[in-house]
Amino acid sequence: MKHTVEVMISEADVSARIAKLGEEITARYQGSDEVVMIGLLRGSCVFLADLCRQCQLPVTLDFMTASSYGAGMHSSRDVRILKDLDDDIKGKDVVIVEDIIDTGYTLNKVREILSLRDPKSLAICTLLDKPSRREVQVPVDWIGFAIPDEFVVGCGIDYAQQYRNLPFIGKVVPQG
Ligand code: 5GP
Repeated sequence: MKHTVEVMISEADVSARIAKLGEEITARYQGSDEVVMIGLLRGSCVFLADLCRQCQLPVTLDFMTASSYGAGMHSSRDVRILKDLDDDIKGKDVVIVEDIIDTGYTLNKVREILSLRDPKSLAICTLLDKPSRREVQVPVDWIGFAIPDEFVVGCGIDYAQQYRNLPFIGKVVPQG
């Protein structure tokens, strides 16, 4: 599809918001032995890298892959875990880090699976949220930005694997 990418949220605004999220997460987990930040691949890897460096805490990282959009622009209700965590989360403070919540099916499923593993606590931090698209409710602790129902890229989020390295959030605009 022919398209252009327009800036929706600038690099400066993204950085400032992530710094603030880092402060809030740091405050929440004061005294914790270990906060495990779980990145949902591949979209959250850039956000996770930025966010964990803004957290003044003992943090470890782990990753999970859930089935997502593939090469298209539509979400699927059939969420499958394609890669599980490497480490046990029992008794740990866990923060699931997501790039964007759309219908909520992905995070709902991941949260359900992880909560069965007896973490000490389980929270969710997402860079972006499209509240108007929600089909299943998920408790989200931190939201970077609530955005309208637009297809976005950048800061780890792709369109057919492109644009993950854009330092801003862009909107994909079809041409012709
Ligand atoms: P949900 O299960 O909440 O419908 O979908 C969440 C996943 O859909 C995100 O992790 C992301 O991979 C994908 N997604 C949702 N909205 C967008 C978007 O605007 N752009 C891209 N590239 N992916 C999106």
